[in-house]
This record gives sequence, C-alpha cells and structure tokens, in this order.
Amino acid sequence: MAITIAKAKSARGLLKQVQELSGVDVSKCYQCKKCTSGCPVSSLAKCPPSEMMRRLHLDMGEELLHSDILWMCVSCETCSARCPMGIDVAAVMDALRKLAVQRGAARPEGNVPLFNRAFLKTVEVFGRTYDMAMIAGYKLGSGKLLADTEKFPIMLKKRKIALLPPHGADRRTVRRIFKKTKHVAPPPSGVKNKAGQ
Ligand code: SF4
Ligand code: SF4
Repeated sequence: MAITIAKAKSARGLLKQVQELSGVDVSKCYQCKKCTSGCPVSSLAKCPPSEMMRRLHLDMGEELLHSDILWMCVSCETCSARCPMGIDVAAVMDALRKLAVQRGAARPEGNVPLFNRAFLKTVEVFGRTYDMAMIAGYKLGSGKLLADTEKFPIMLKKRKIALLPPHGADRRTVRRIFKKTKHVAPPPSGVKNKAGQ
C-alpha cells in the first residue's frame, strides 16, 4: 500500500535557508537516529534531533521554528560527533534558532532567556564563564534565591563550581567580540525576567 506524506506549509523555503546558514546537506540523513540516542535532552523534547532532520528534509518549516528542542539544546555537539554521515546537526540547530529569532517565532519557556543572559553576561565581563556570578545573576533575576541551595556544598566538594573568577582570559578581546556581534542575535522577545528586562 502506498503511503502519502503531505508536505506541510513551508516557512518561505526554510530548508534552503537552513542549508545555506549551516552548510549542511540535510538530504544526506538516512534516519539512523544515532544523533537522538546520544542527545542529552532528546527524551525531554517533543521533536528530537533525528525527527527534526526528517521534518526539515520535508520542508515542514513553520512547525520546526516552534520546536521545543531549539531552546532545550545545550549545543554539546554530541549529535554532530555521532552522525555516521558527518552531518553537523548542531549547526542545523544554530541555524534554526537564528531563523526562529529573526522571524519572531522564538518561544523559549520559563527562565531559559534569563539563564542565557546571565551566562553571556559573565562571559562578557570575565572573558570566560564564571559560575558564581552566573548563579547570582540568575537567582536575582528569577527571584528563586533559595532554590537548589542544598546542591551547592556537593558541587563545591566535587569541584563543579569555582568560587574565584577565571584567570588568563583575554577580557578585552572578548568584550570587543560582544560589542561587534550584539546586533546579530538579539535576545528572544516576549520573555522578560521579574525586573522586566
Ligand atoms: S547539540 Fe543539542 S541537539 Fe545535539 S546532542 Fe547536544 S543537546 Fe542534543
Ligand atoms: S545521526 Fe546523522 S544520519 Fe543518523 S539520523 Fe541523525 S542526522 Fe540523520
């Protein structure tokens, strides 16, 4: 029996744009799902990486720009490293995120944008990520001052958190990069922290 797959409404040639932005040939994907099986957030996402690749191949644009995995993805690049076809799936994620923001389709949930800003701010100020400053920025913005405090001594003991700022970073160069690129990726609209920023 023949199976018909209906082509969904395309977001103005999204497939073409993603391929141009990422340099990835999506048609090379043969759905082995190795990317999904290694992805640390795939079990939480409604549309895991392999499914995203399939939907992208079918040019189901509108849906993809609203995919939850775009804002759950931690850019670990495991998917790219595991792909037997050498497809840079993480670059596809980046391209989709960029297009979602540009088209106003970005809808990250909860405090994800706030966390993102707290992380980037510490990199901008210290030249590298600085856990204590990032945690302070996130907690002040979210108002969740006491959440997860019981984990702090454990993480400290296991040296997962550095108390002192990072050394050796070229702060001036990093700040210059931030200054030059700030206009390229504005923070997603529509989500504000408690301070209304
Ligand atoms: S880069 Fe994103 S999509 Fe790829 S494995 Fe990591 S979290 Fe999953
Ligand atoms: S690992 Fe590569 S080939 Fe396999 S499903 Fe993922 S993108 Fe496609």
